[in-house]
Amino acid sequence: MPEASLKKIGVLTSGGDSPGMNAAIRAVVRACAYYQIKCVGVRMGYEGLIQNQMSELGARSVKHIINRGGTFLQTARSKEFRTKEGREKAFKNLQNNGIEGLVVIGGDGSFTGATVFHEEFGLPFIGIPGTIDNDIFGTDYTIGYDTALNTAIEAIDRIRDSATSHNRVFFVEVMGRDAGFIALSSGIASGAQDILIPEENDSLTELFETLQKSEQSGKNSSIVVVAEGEELGNVFELAKATEKRFPGYDVRVTVLGHIQRGGNPTCMDRVLASRLGVAAVEALIDGKTDLMAGLRSNRIVFTPIQDAIKKHNEIDQELIKIAKILAV
Ligand code: ATP
Repeated sequence: MPEASLKKIGVLTSGGDSPGMNAAIRAVVRACAYYQIKCVGVRMGYEGLIQNQMSELGARSVKHIINRGGTFLQTARSKEFRTKEGREKAFKNLQNNGIEGLVVIGGDGSFTGATVFHEEFGLPFIGIPGTIDNDIFGTDYTIGYDTALNTAIEAIDRIRDSATSHNRVFFVEVMGRDAGFIALSSGIASGAQDILIPEENDSLTELFETLQKSEQSGKNSSIVVVAEGEELGNVFELAKATEKRFPGYDVRVTVLGHIQRGGNPTCMDRVLASRLGVAAVEALIDGKTDLMAGLRSNRIVFTPIQDAIKKHNEIDQELIKIAKILAV
């Protein structure tokens, strides 16, 4: 068994939870056991560093969690970690526990926190992208995105059953405060008539034209998938405007909300989390820091954390075109 010079690392989940985080923690813990490094699980993200809520995790302590949603270490948004005093407390606790590196599983906010911490105290860290939004630069997929997508399309399929039975127009809101990835893919996969995302300049005129064309082409129901952060308006405002324009339509709204965050991770998310967890530990062993482990074209890649934080994944214009073609 290979032996590393690094003796002990910590792992935490931070920011919003996403399905597959448990699988990532498990991979980190088991990779540490494989390379004979001690692994410490930190509870409640950065808050746990400050409150010294840490305990050693052995390979068997992460049994039966690869299939579970959420994060058993729990996650938090820590206000105190944003202060110098809070971070000093965190560093002292890490020193007292003999922790020499950190794996941070979370979104860009969590990576920013880790960067600030690294600049101040020099603690090496590797980020793993865990968020359902898929909006992190440096990886084709973030952990949780695929599960959220599958949950969304299952729900939209059910909504369609009702829509077709009643000749209804449904506005379905999916998660994505600043990003339309979930909306675009779930919209294509569920055969949505229109997909409204913050990255595109949508207009009510275009939306109404699409609905009208849909009716003229013989469709008796329509699903419009709307990202949470759509700039044209929220689903309730859009539904109201549609009712006003087409008084004869039976318009309904469904907000999918937090069901998209929960549930057992899909196979894809479990494998992604397993790969990134092992890669993060190996990177720390190799003396790397300030990087995010990601997957591009099915290969593990490391992206400078500043790029992961500052750059943005672009929406695939080909997918937008496909959505339009298929809604004919
Ligand atoms: P999500 O994408 O789900 O929102 P996130 O990782 O972006 O996840 P945030 O709430 O933005 O979530 O960040 C998580 C935590 O990271 C914050 O609660 C805070 O403790 C820490 N953090 C974020 N930005 C900074 C910063 N500039 N300085 C110190 N800590 C920070």
